[in-house]
Amino acid sequence: MCLTIPGRIKKIDGNFAILEGSFGLRKVNTMALGKVKIGDWLLATTGLAVKKINKDEAQELIKLLKGHNYVNNDKIDKKLLSILENARKRSLNRDEIIFLLNLRRREDVEALFLEADVIRKSYLKDFICIHGIIEFSNYCENNCSYCGLRFENKKLKRYRMSLKEIIGVIDNAVNKIGYKMLVLQSGVDKGWNDTKLIELIKLIKQKYRVFIFVSIGERSLKCYKEMKKAGADGILLRFETSNKELYQRLHFSKTLKGNFDKRLKLISDLKKNGYYISSGSIIGLPGQTIKDLANDVLMMKKMNVGMVSMGPFVPSENTLLGKEKEAEAILSLKMIAICRLLMKEARIPVTSALETIGGEEIRKKGLSCGANSLMFNLTPRKYRKDYKIYNNKFYGRNKKLERAALFQNEDSWRMIEQEFRKKI
Ligand code: SAH
Repeated sequence: MCLTIPGRIKKIDGNFAILEGSFGLRKVNTMALGKVKIGDWLLATTGLAVKKINKDEAQELIKLLKGHNYVNNDKIDKKLLSILENARKRSLNRDEIIFLLNLRRREDVEALFLEADVIRKSYLKDFICIHGIIEFSNYCENNCSYCGLRFENKKLKRYRMSLKEIIGVIDNAVNKIGYKMLVLQSGVDKGWNDTKLIELIKLIKQKYRVFIFVSIGERSLKCYKEMKKAGADGILLRFETSNKELYQRLHFSKTLKGNFDKRLKLISDLKKNGYYISSGSIIGLPGQTIKDLANDVLMMKKMNVGMVSMGPFVPSENTLLGKEKEAEAILSLKMIAICRLLMKEARIPVTSALETIGGEEIRKKGLSCGANSLMFNLTPRKYRKDYKIYNNKFYGRNKKLERAALFQNEDSWRMIEQEFRKKI
């Protein structure tokens, strides 16, 4: 699942080749490819050539992965430079994060992005992971005021995939495309009761070598413990906002009394029970302040999340916040960059919500300002339009990136396994 980088063969020495690429020169083992010659373009990890590609494909990938690499230090705010310096040595405090979130001048914002990019590269090299998400039910008994799945949204056509349908999607994703990490997401749907969920996880883990994240909202700790026993690896459960008062307000209606402390306690219990944690917030919620966002970053850091999960607020029709303003993309990019400064080795995906407001272009931008992973949507086409958390959801599965990232290789499995061991 780790992204390979294109390079061109400069020299061949037995089963090894010297490749030239964005990484400079790199010696890679070419045994898996059979005969290769000088001038060939290869996709390679740090030590291993994985596949031959043609020149056009290589150029396209290089363009896709290229960051910006120009910052003129004389033009950069001096306080910013000292904060970036601090971030290399220690964690940043709230005031420093607020300063970064408030940056306005283009040169300053670019300097922040570049620093995050440098940190990503020095800690995580050129590896980028692609996760697949399967949205298996849009029934929800919750009523969150921002979410299109809220149960009071009577206009939404509801669907619930069957076990057989889910396994069909997973079979294709794992065995045909090579996904190693999948997220199973739904509303809080008791139609998928505890017993069925546990059976599903058990079956997946028996049949496939794949990491499974569950993103099914608040269920009992007992259910989560059983899912863990059945083989679930991680959870994706956002705290949504670190501002308790705002949380309670957004999760309060005639039918819902959201409980911030309960949600946080669940995340913490799941961590204690060995789950790899992916959590975070919605960026740009109506009523949210810059200080709240700084606290969100600190909360993720404190939780020691393995994967940061956050995205911009996008209004969703037929919800209480349907007429509110969409978040600004630049704020989400700054949050990605800041998370990278504080959580140097975390997985930070460019999420679909960000792609929804920024299009395919923003994917490249996100990957060059600290993000190191992507979420591709694997929900069957016939259901996608009904998983309407927010308006105009983006579905930019990129097959070229999939081909580059999703190869079967023991080294990349080992890397993920190590990361999971470290984080739980
Ligand atoms: N039911 C699950 C997750 C499904 S929704 C749970 O409770 O955790 C997945 C995520 O979509 C939510 O956690 C929320 O952060 C995000 N989301 C919902 N509505 C949104 C909106 N209008 N804009 C941006 N993100 C939204």
